[in-house]
Amino acid sequence: MYCIGLILFDSFTIKIRRPCAGICFVLLRVNETTYTRPSTDKNLSDPFHGGESTGNDRIRHLITSSNMTTYKDTRNGTLGLNFSTKLSAWLALGCITARQVHEYLLAFEDGKTDLGKGVHGYGKGENKGTAAVRFELLWRDYFRLTTRKFGPRLFRIGGFKNDTSTTWKYPQKDGETQKKVTRFLEGTTGTGFIDASMRELFLTGYTSNRLRQNVASFLAKHLGIDWRIGAEWYESLLCDYDLSSNWGNWQYNAGVGNDPREARVFNPVKQVWHNFPTKGMCILILSRHTTTTHKESTSRTGSKNCGP
Ligand SMILES: Cc1cc2nc3c(=O)[nH]c(=O)nc-3n(C[C@H](O)[C@H](O)[C@H](O)COP(=O)(O)OP(=O)(O)OC[C@H]3O[C@@H](n4cnc5c(N)ncnc54)[C@H](O)[C@@H]3O)c2cc1C
Repeated sequence: MYCIGLILFDSFTIKIRRPCAGICFVLLRVNETTYTRPSTDKNLSDPFHGGESTGNDRIRHLITSSNMTTYKDTRNGTLGLNFSTKLSAWLALGCITARQVHEYLLAFEDGKTDLGKGVHGYGKGENKGTAAVRFELLWRDYFRLTTRKFGPRLFRIGGFKNDTSTTWKYPQKDGETQKKVTRFLEGTTGTGFIDASMRELFLTGYTSNRLRQNVASFLAKHLGIDWRIGAEWYESLLCDYDLSSNWGNWQYNAGVGNDPREARVFNPVKQVWHNFPTKGMCILILSRHTTTTHKESTSRTGSKNCGP
């Protein structure tokens, strides 16, 4: 049995097959022929290339295009190049550091460099956009610290909390759960928002933070299935895979980590309306990422969940 992994050289999206290790026992072999890889699609959320220079270019672009300044208002987006920084893969691979991002922002805020001169917020100190970018980078640090503190609890079903109150479903123990897991991983659950994200992840190695939160909440809280299956699937596919951020966020969204709002559950249907004021965006992503063989079933699921 295999799952699909990514190998991270110069480009973030070279796909390889690798044996699946660790705690995910259920593994399906995703039928690659049902999907087309849109590797040259310029509308992808993360079509970038790796390396230190391109990472630095990206930071400069974010400052000069004022995307750093507007980040707070756009960061929950799901489609496109600039709703969030897309710095995660460079950070995860060590091409750039959080400290470097901070220094670029500081120079812009203090007006100490020509970079970003004339852009809204230049020389005016920290603004809500630059503050929000720093805030997210602090989350990254925070998850590293919690990993250091709790060690192997990062991978346990009860999480950092050692929570034993939930009765989780395990696919290796019942066939119905196994089927649900297969549909979840393949992106054929019938919930358009979730399926779009799972297919985007499979095809590109990236999916937005808001979609990741919904996906994690869906597996753990709606389906009540062992959240570690999702974490391991992400581990094998994300181009920005980072041990602490991935497993820490999965725990957090499964309610066994360090989220103080314990009962929080994302409603993937409401989230569509919140995040896609224009109806049918879900269907758009789904159809963009599927072949004709898949079109019939995809448009059925899409229209059921994403449009009136
Ligand atoms: C279930 C789940 C799994 C995740 N797995 C990973 C992972 O393996 N690797 C990873 O880098 N991020 C992970 N994240 C966090 C977040 O989704 C990504 O960092 C973000 O979507 C990357 O896009 P960006 O660079 O445009 O982020 P931006 O919104 O632009 O944020 C800027 C940077 O801050 C950091 N950051 C932002 N949000 C978070 C967060 N919630 N936790 C930790 N750091 C954050 C990242 O380094 C990111 O590049 C996960 C989130 C969830 C809910």
